[in-house]
This record gives sequence, C-alpha cells and structure tokens, in this order.
Amino acid sequence: GVAGMAVTDSEALAALHRVFGYESFRGEQEAVVDHVIAGGDAVVLMPTGGGKSLCYQIPALVRPGTGVVVSPLIALMQDQVDALRALGVRAGFMNSTQDFDERRTVEAEFLAGELDLLYLAPERLRLDSSLDLLSRGKISVFAIDEAHCVSQWGHDFRPDYLTLSVLGERWPDVPRIALTATATDATHREITERLGMPDARHFVASFDRPNIQYRIVPKADPRKQLLAFLREEHAGEAGIVYCLSRNSVDKTAEFLSRNGIEAVPYHAGLDAGTRAAHQARFLREEGLVVVATIAFGMGIDKPDVRFVAHLDLPKSVEGYYQETGRAGRDGLPSTAWMAYGLNDVVQQRKLIQTGEGDEAFRRRAGQHLDAMLALCETVHCRRAGLLAYFGQEPSGENCGNCDTCLAPPETWDGTVAAQKVLSTVVRLQRERGQKFGAVQIVDILLGRRTAKVIQFDHDQLSVFGIGEELSEAQWRGVIRQLLAQGLLAVEGDYGTLVLTEASGSVLRREREVPLRKEPEKPAVSRAGGGS
Ligand code: ADP
Ligand code: ZN
Repeated sequence: GVAGMAVTDSEALAALHRVFGYESFRGEQEAVVDHVIAGGDAVVLMPTGGGKSLCYQIPALVRPGTGVVVSPLIALMQDQVDALRALGVRAGFMNSTQDFDERRTVEAEFLAGELDLLYLAPERLRLDSSLDLLSRGKISVFAIDEAHCVSQWGHDFRPDYLTLSVLGERWPDVPRIALTATATDATHREITERLGMPDARHFVASFDRPNIQYRIVPKADPRKQLLAFLREEHAGEAGIVYCLSRNSVDKTAEFLSRNGIEAVPYHAGLDAGTRAAHQARFLREEGLVVVATIAFGMGIDKPDVRFVAHLDLPKSVEGYYQETGRAGRDGLPSTAWMAYGLNDVVQQRKLIQTGEGDEAFRRRAGQHLDAMLALCETVHCRRAGLLAYFGQEPSGENCGNCDTCLAPPETWDGTVAAQKVLSTVVRLQRERGQKFGAVQIVDILLGRRTAKVIQFDHDQLSVFGIGEELSEAQWRGVIRQLLAQGLLAVEGDYGTLVLTEASGSVLRREREVPLRKEPEKPAVSRAGGGS
C-alpha cells in the first residue's frame, strides 16, 4: 500500500546512508530500488560507472532473505564480497575457485539466513544441486548482472545465461532485476525475452558521457603518437592503454617506461600474482598507466582514470564504449583516444575469417566490426554516432567535445582513386591470376620498382605508376576506407585484397566514393585541435 511504500522508501535511503555512507541516490537508482523493493521486475540499462550495483544491493538489504546475484565475473567475486564485508554487509559467493569447505560454509550461511548477498557464477544454476540449495533458503531478489551475456547477437554471449529463465519459473514471487551497460534495441528485446521478463519495468539511463572527449586519429607510428598524447595532455595521470596482443602490451609498457612514463603490463600471460600486484598499484597510485589486453578493467572501480587509449581497433562499438567508459567516472574531463589504420581493418577482417565460429557467427562479427569502422570513418559527431548506435538521441548535432566536432574533417571525391585501386586488384586477378595485399598494390600504384614488383613483373601492368598523385600514406588511407565501406575485402591468412559485390558499381562508374581527407603525413601530436 501507499503507507508501505513510504516506509520502504525511507528504509532504502537509510540503508544507503548507513551502509554505504552516500548522501542520496543517483539518477534512476531511486526509482529502480523502489520498484524492486515493492516486488517488481526491472531491466536496468545504465552505462558503466552509472551505479548499477546499488540497484540490487539496496533491495537485497531491505527485503527479507538473501539477494542472489548472478555474475559472470568470477575473478572479481572475491573482491566484490570483500568490499561489501568491509562495509558490514553479510556477503558470500559460490564459484569454481572455491574448495569444498569454503563452499560448505557459504551454503550453511545462506540456509541459516545469515547472508544479505550471495554471488553466483551462471554455470552454477545448471546444476540441480544449486537449484535445490536455493530452494531451501529464502531469496529476496535475483539480480542478473551483465545481462547482455544472454544475447546471442552480442559480443559477450554466454550459453549459461540461457538457463536463467528458470529463475522466473521456479521463483515466480521473487523479483528479478537484469542489469547491463550494453544494450542496443535488439539486445534489449532479447534480454526480456530470453530471461522471461515480459512484465519488467525498463529503466534506461542516458549513455552520454559528456566529460569524455572522443578522438580517433590516423595511425602512423602508434607508440610515438601515444607518447606525445600522454606527454601533452595527461602527464602524470592514470589511464589505460588497450592493445590487442600480449606481445604489443609488453612492448608498449616497456616503451612508455623507457620514455619516463610509469607503465605496467596486464594480460592473461602474466602470472596471477603479477596481475594482482599491477591492478592493486593502478587502484592505489595516482599516475600509473596500465597497458592491457581487453581483459583488464571489467568491474574495476577507479574514478580518476583520465584517459583510455586504444592502439588497436576494438571488435565492436559495445566493446569500445565499455572500454572508453572506464575513463572519467568522477565526471571530470577525460579523453578516449584511439589510433586507427589500415592494418587494423585488415587484421580484424582476417581474424573474423580465419577465427572460430560458424557462418552465422562470422556474419555477426562482421556486422559488429562494420559498425565500429563506421564510427572510425565518420565525418559527423562521434558522440552522436555512439548514442545512435545505442538507440539514443544526441542532445544536439554537434557535441563540441569530439575530434570531428572540434575540427570537422573535409571530404574529397575519391571516386577516381577508388577506381585505380580496384582496377589494380582486378588486373592482378584477371591478367595474372594473383592476389596481393595492400603493400604491393600501393607499390604498383606509385610505380615503385621494389624487389617484389620486379619479381612478379608488376611493372609491366598497365596500372603501374597510375597513382603518383597521392602519397603512400594517402593510398593506404584510401584502401582502408574502401575496406571500411565494403568496397574491397580481405581474404585469407595473408590479408590479400579482393573485390566485393559492391566494387563493380564503382568500376562501372555508377557511384561516387566520398572519402575522408587525411593529413599527408598523420600528425604525431594531437590531431583534433581542441582548445
Ligand atoms: P556500474 O556497475 O554501473 O559500473 P557501480 O555500481 O560500480 O557502477 O558504481 C560506480 C561508482 O559510483 C562506485 O564507486 C559507486 O560506489 C559510486 N556510486 C554509485 N551510486 C552512488 C551514489 N548514489 N552516491 C555516490 N556514489 C555512488
Ligand atoms: Zn561531437
């Protein structure tokens, strides 16, 4: 009833003050908390750092029984539970890292009603023994964290999440709250369908992070570009640098250290002790740079990360948003900086083609990459592009805080250049039955008699030297943009270039190819201009 609502209301606020020491709820938190305490189901979309945890922790504290939290982040459970215990919350977890005795203890606590929160890995809920255990205790709320993992279209799909619909079937009277920082419209629908939550109320926070400046610069000498960026804009500040491979993580950390920037590596190839030590330093120190593979950062709560830099292209817009979202949780100005070039496109396309997964998986991965590439190549506001991807409206056409708004890129008519590239690919294939990568194509266009050009008699091709009006960097930019636009494709292990169905329309002069204008020699320092 109404009177009851008022009581739970103040109980929620009391728990917020007493347990967490916070003044007030943020944004949608209060509405979510009220709804769940009253017994309703909720789907919560909030960007990383938005404060999702309190949305289920407070109801778990206020409602009688234990709040059961399903989370795929096994590696973080111990830390999360420790942090809660330090606040006096009775929390425990069950996952595969525990030995028999530890699990027994937690089970006993749960059954005795001595836990406010119990964290579980999703695979636990496949086991009848776990479900039976839960049936024998009292549950206040089910929280399904990282709920986008249920989406087969997403970048984080976990089959175990598909079994979570059992929660609604077995415990129809226990409210459920699904939370994610990642949801396009399609993912959003999948969450409600697959988790069986048709009546859930949806709480959608804005995904805009106005204090983050988005910048994507053409890649020339990425480590040097990164160094200049850090020296000019973020000297002595904490940040994360993402690289695709362990090897480049190690090299980049070394390079930065050699150049006077305190940096440590973080990746799965390091032993657990080193990883934990580096993570602890990052959290504790003020100006440490962590160079990491994407594994680093999930669930890490450091408010004053001043920049996130990508030296390699993320696989999807969701990934990019989550990773960049680790910057500036304190609301202060921060930078999301990325260096991006032709090799990124070739490499990612190659990974998709030669990687695991069936045809449907590859097609989806291709779609994710295409969306990411579109964001890189856009001449419009990057923030607007990001928000549109998540189905949200930007507050204006120009955000004034991304590189394309700060220094609008010019376009040029690249139709003839595109035709030259495509003709070269066609000639090699038709006249010689050969396929080559971008390096050879550019050498042919520029009329360079390299050893490899001589070896294959490519100086005899009619297209040899037809592209001297552009520089090597510009040709690489043209090829990159053609790949991004799907007018050219990559094949096989060597990244050879081949035509696509759409290429024909360019060769037949049926369409124009507008391209983004790029510096003759990509600037090593700040590209966006800014203040
Ligand atoms: P998410 O899970 O959405 O990424 P978290 O739940 O980890 O976000 O919260 C991010 C940070 O914001 C944490 O440091 C948390 O303590 C803080 N926070 C969340 N809600 C509030 C609030 N109402 N008042 C103050 N700080 C908050
Ligand atoms: Zn903008």
